[in-house]
Formats: sequence, structure tokens, C-alpha cells
Amino acid sequence: MRHIAIVGSGPAGFYTAEAALKTWNEAVRVDIIDRLPVPYGLIRSGVAPDHQSIKAVAKRYEAVATDPRVRFIGHVVVGRDVSVATLTDTYDAVVLATGAPDDRALGIPGDDLPGVIGSSAFVGWYNAHPDFAGLVPPLGGRHAVIVGNGNVALDVARILAKARDEFDGSDIAGHALDAVCASGLARITILGRRGPYQIAMTAKELGELGHLSSAQPHVDTADLPPAEGDAALEPGLRKSVGHLRSFAAAPPRDGVKSVTFDFFAAPCAIEGDGHARAIVVERTQLGADGRAVATGETYRLPADLIVACIGYRTPQIAGVPYDEAGGRFANENGRISPGLYCVGWAKRGPSGTIGTNRPDGQAVIAAIAADQPEATGKPGGVALDALLAAGNIHATDFAHWQRIDAAEIARARTTAPREKFTDVAAMLSLTC
Ligand code: NAP
Repeated sequence: MRHIAIVGSGPAGFYTAEAALKTWNEAVRVDIIDRLPVPYGLIRSGVAPDHQSIKAVAKRYEAVATDPRVRFIGHVVVGRDVSVATLTDTYDAVVLATGAPDDRALGIPGDDLPGVIGSSAFVGWYNAHPDFAGLVPPLGGRHAVIVGNGNVALDVARILAKARDEFDGSDIAGHALDAVCASGLARITILGRRGPYQIAMTAKELGELGHLSSAQPHVDTADLPPAEGDAALEPGLRKSVGHLRSFAAAPPRDGVKSVTFDFFAAPCAIEGDGHARAIVVERTQLGADGRAVATGETYRLPADLIVACIGYRTPQIAGVPYDEAGGRFANENGRISPGLYCVGWAKRGPSGTIGTNRPDGQAVIAAIAADQPEATGKPGGVALDALLAAGNIHATDFAHWQRIDAAEIARARTTAPREKFTDVAAMLSLTC
């Protein structure tokens, strides 16, 4: 029997498990370990709460988790409750699918002021992640600034801009729904250090901004390149740029929040008196190599809340080689060291869609199969169970999650599919 441990129960972890089952059929057992008592990682805590159709992929992962060859082992922190070295001694192969849940720092003066929040924390807050549910984002002011021109920036802008009834059908945390709807925000500025042709926003997500009941996106026509250039763009980007052009052409609506795209605008300092009050921005232009080049011209935008949506890093785990510049595990096509592998964002950094993790999972299982044509005879899950029992660690299983899931569905407000528990103790209380 071949024993595989996968650390992390998000998309990369589940696609890896799926590939392992397909490759070794009855000759494999897979343990999926997660630090939270509940599965699904990014699907539960990262995907926007008003994008329920994307979250539906969890049904596919559920089919994997309920396969008799697979176990979900939650509430076990690898690197604390059990070391990676112990796992590699116990399993034929260990695959780190831990994602990239840490925020990249802005790295500018004032970025540590209260009121400056990374997107992982902000998204975790509105998605009820236990690590961030206690965050109190300052929503009492009139101005929010979002840094970055990717899809996470769009998610954050949309959540800040929506009216209460536009959250119907979403599973936004109740605390976040109330705070966002009570906010006095009038202007949300999205800063892009480069231009409209360099955005990393996909067309469907960008288009949503144009259909909000109480907010209007604004683009300065002067920032848009001549329309003749659009024909040469990749089709998805061309469609996104088309949305920006229609935002620029739309007549202004009165009495709604503005979501203003500020292009060629790089943040260079945050000012405040014990709290963020303004962001200093430097005008840029596009260099010959496509990078943003500072022009020396600066201006100041009021900012009571600043959310940096500039990418993520994989947290380090003791004993695992790390690529500091890339913010992920040091690896060669998913191989870290004999018996130890990584996959998904922990392997390649935070890019691509959820589906990108599927070929990633297949590739890492192919690498394991090539490196280990035969199983090594290691004991696998039995030995891990003994270790956890000896350490008095209360791990959760998939049946426990199903109980938590049912309780979250039962306590949902009428317009929501669920109300997530925000603390681990509340989740564990349902598993005894
Ligand atoms: P991203 O797509 O890599 O975008 C990061 C943005 O931050 C870029 O515009 C980048 O600008 C900017 N940036 C980086 N460092 C900066 C700095 N120091 N100052 C100013 N701007 C800076 O990352 P993301 O938005 O976090 O998304 C991560 C992944 O998840 C992406 O693959 C995304 O598509 C995916 N995602 C998908 C969805 C969806 O499909 N609905 C939703 C959310 C996330 P430059 O381009 O100039 O570097």
C-alpha cells in the first residue's frame, strides 16, 4: 500500500488527492491534513462570498473526501503538532498544498499604521476566517483606497461597494455584512501602478462593477490608450479593457458611491496620526520594459482604510527549504527533497484560477510515481493516528465537518446559504 499525506485541504490539496486515487486505484491511501477543523481552504476563506457558483466546486472535493481511500484530518498544525520530518518518515510521500495565505507587505513608510490592512486579513474577515474574524476594519470614514489591479482588488472593492440586498445569496459573515452596510464610505479608489493594458483583472469580475445598485465605477478617459491598440490584446484582456472604456463613457449617477480607477499611480507613503489618514501616490509611466517608472510627481489621497491587494506568500514551515524572493517553498517542478513535494500556490506562487491547480495536482502525483515506482513500506495514517493520540491532539474528520456544515446551514440568516462559525472552539464543540 502507498501512503500519501497532503498538507492543506484547498483546491491544490484536493486535486492532488484526486490524481493519487486515479493513479494508484486501490493501492493508495491518502490523508489530507488541515490546520483548521474544516476543509476547503481558499474555497471557504478566499473566494468572494458573493461568488457562490465558484464555491460549488466543493461538491467535487466532497466526493474525494468521502472516498473510503481518503481521510480528512483537521485541526492538526504541521510544523507544530507534527513535524514535516515525522510525516516524511511516516508516509511514502508528503505533498505541501498550504497555499499562500500570508500578505505581502507594501514596504512603504507608514504601512504599519492602523487602518492599513492586507487583503488576506480583509478577505479573511468578511469570509469569517477564525484568524481574522476579530479584525475591526475602519469603515467609519469616507475614503477607502485599494492598492493593486488584480481580481482580489476587485473582490474587495465590490464587497465595500455593494448594498445590503446585493449580498442576498452570499455567505458573507454577518459581522462583515453589518459593518459594510453601516459604513460611511463615499469613495473607493483602486490604485494601479501601471495602466489599463497591464491590469490582472478578468472581464467577468470587472464587468460586475458596472452593475452595482449604489456604486458607480469611474475611469479617466485620459488614462486609456488609443482604442486602436485593443485589437492586438489577448481576447480576455481586450474584454476587460472594453469594460474600462464603458466605465469611462458612462454618464455620472448622483448619490452613489464612486469606485475610481487611478492608473499609473504607485503608493509611496502612508500618512497619519496614529491611524492612516492619507496615502501619498507617485505618478508613474510605463517603461520600455513594461515596468512602472516613477515620474517624481506626487499627490495625496485621503484614505481612512487602505487594503493592499498586492499578492501573497506561503508561510514557512520549520525544516522546509524556502524561496524568500518567490515567497514559496524552494522546489524543482514540485520536488523539494526526497519524499517531500509541493503543489499549487505553495509551489508556483499566487497566480492562476482554481482550475490551474488540477494539472498541478496531476503533475505532482506523476513526479511521485516517477520517483517512487514502488511503495516504500512506510506505515502511513496508522502511525500518524498513534502520534496524535499520544500528543492528545483532537483532530477532526470529515464526519465532524459534516456536522459543522449542517450547523452553519441551520444558523444562516434567511438570505444566506450559511453563517460560518468564526472561532475554532465553536467548531470543535460540535465534534465531541
Ligand atoms: P495579482 O493578480 O497578482 O495582482 C496583484 C496586483 O498588485 C497587480 O496589479 C500588481 O501590479 C499589483 N502590485 C504588486 N505589488 C505592488 C506594489 N508594491 N504596489 C502597487 N501595486 C502592486 O494578485 P491577486 O489579485 O492577489 O490575485 C491572486 C490570484 O487569485 C490571481 O491569479 C487572481 O486572478 C486569482 N483570483 C481570481 C478571482 C476570480 O477569478 N474571481 C478572484 C480573486 C483572485 P503589477 O502588475 O504592476 O505587478
